Amino acid sequence: FAERLIRHDQSSYAINFAIEIHMTFEKLGLSESLLRAVAHSGYTQPTPIQIQAIPAILSGGDVMAAAQTGTGKTAGFVLPMLQQLGPHTRVTSGKVRALILTPTRELAAQVHKSILTYGKHENLLSAVVFGGVNINPQLKQLRRGVDLLVATPGRLLDLYQQRAIGFDEIELLVLDEADRMLDMGFIRDIRSILAVLP
Ligand code: AMP
Repeated sequence: FAERLIRHDQSSYAINFAIEIHMTFEKLGLSESLLRAVAHSGYTQPTPIQIQAIPAILSGGDVMAAAQTGTGKTAGFVLPMLQQLGPHTRVTSGKVRALILTPTRELAAQVHKSILTYGKHENLLSAVVFGGVNINPQLKQLRRGVDLLVATPGRLLDLYQQRAIGFDEIELLVLDEADRMLDMGFIRDIRSILAVLP
């Protein structure tokens, strides 16, 4: 029933509310280990953006989502990504399976923290890279490959040009706060990154 409502009208407040009062994380289709991590975070109900985004991402669709700050967008994409990537790492050395681009190092660090929190039972490898700090530890860290990489666009390009990371096994791409990335003039970097993704 909820799925049909989501398909038929994504913008009506009344319908969102009707879904919200009956919705649980279990019903969104998340795995048992992710549900445990969610429960440990103290969340009892998914937020409206999570109700709409999680099933769409789990079903393999492309999603564009917008919601105000503080409404749970990060968990809305991190949880289904962790599930898509599976409970155990399958990454090849020097490769990345899921790439999350963010406009600032603060946001990158925050998103990576969410990955560690929600993904603590998943046995996946993750890393965060951004500019303004020594690149050498990042080069070393990426050598073994990572399932999830959070990055700011400029530093990611540097690392790619130094052959620290290969994108041919990419399964998932997220542009977090895409509007802000455009405001900050990242369009050229983002285009250059998209151009080298399969
Ligand atoms: P975000 O909008 O992703 O920055 O998330 C804002 C805050 O909401 C973060 O502190 C999250 O830990 C928290 N949060 C995310 N999802 C939920 C939820 N379903 N219930 C309660 N809090 C949540």
